[in-house]
Amino acid sequence: MINLSGKVALITGGSRGIGKSIVRLFHDAGAHIVFTYHSSQTEAESLCEELRKKSNSEVFAFQADCGIKRDVQSLVENTIENLGTIEILVHNAGIWTEGAIDTMAENSWIETIQTNLHSAYYLCREISPVMKKQRSGRIIFISSTAGQRGEAYHSHYAASKGGIISLTKSLADELGPFGIRTNCVAPGWVRTDMTGAVFADKAFLKKIEQNIPLRYVPQPEEIAGPVLFLASDLALHVNGEILNVNGGSVLCG
Ligand code: NAP
Repeated sequence: MINLSGKVALITGGSRGIGKSIVRLFHDAGAHIVFTYHSSQTEAESLCEELRKKSNSEVFAFQADCGIKRDVQSLVENTIENLGTIEILVHNAGIWTEGAIDTMAENSWIETIQTNLHSAYYLCREISPVMKKQRSGRIIFISSTAGQRGEAYHSHYAASKGGIISLTKSLADELGPFGIRTNCVAPGWVRTDMTGAVFADKAFLKKIEQNIPLRYVPQPEEIAGPVLFLASDLALHVNGEILNVNGGSVLCG
């Protein structure tokens, strides 16, 4: 039902986890894709190989640290060179580390804000002129329940994801008149490498599941679906929305 045939999507953090599921789903929907990886070159190459066997839609992997301005500039230039334009941006790349506010290394704070939030600024600064010119576009950010309710011992992460939510609302207002829809998906816990270590503790996993009304932690595919919806024409009048995908664990509007 959802058809992105011929659309050009740039997806960050596509080598693993949620981003990888988004790349697969968008490719199945017919989109041409450039996705980024940071250090997982082998995973990125094998994803390209897998998808190229399935269809003729273009798919390219690009190495970039999304928290570095020059990397983002090269990424956007390269995408436009290869695919002509950018119609959909999904900014999914991110990191989650632990630290008490009084003892975490300053670099941990800076790296988290740089990777999760400055990246969004760099991407939108480069891509919004392209979308403004074509008077259409979709920007979809991945935030987190941490950005909505806060998260003890992950204050840097929560601050970065809260920033993403405010950025979503600001850009929805600012870029809406140009036909650009800006939305955000806020997942709760998801089974990826990011959470692999904490879920190795089965008692912890059980506690988390008990706090989710649906009583399970989803696979990344269950986040990718709502992202595809926001990129599609089914969501034409959706702008500035924070779409909760958390099994009902955090009930906020
Ligand atoms: P993941 O499995 O750890 O994958 C992270 C992805 O981000 C990888 O593709 C990684 O690239 C990329 N990345 C990391 N640092 C980067 C950098 N500096 N520049 C560019 N790319 C970078 O994480 P995930 O669980 O799929 O998370 C994806 C998004 O969902 C993140 O924004 C995360 O905060 C959010 N989220 C996750 C959960 C959860 O429970 N998993 C919950 C809420 C929100 P490499 O593979 O090359 O390292």
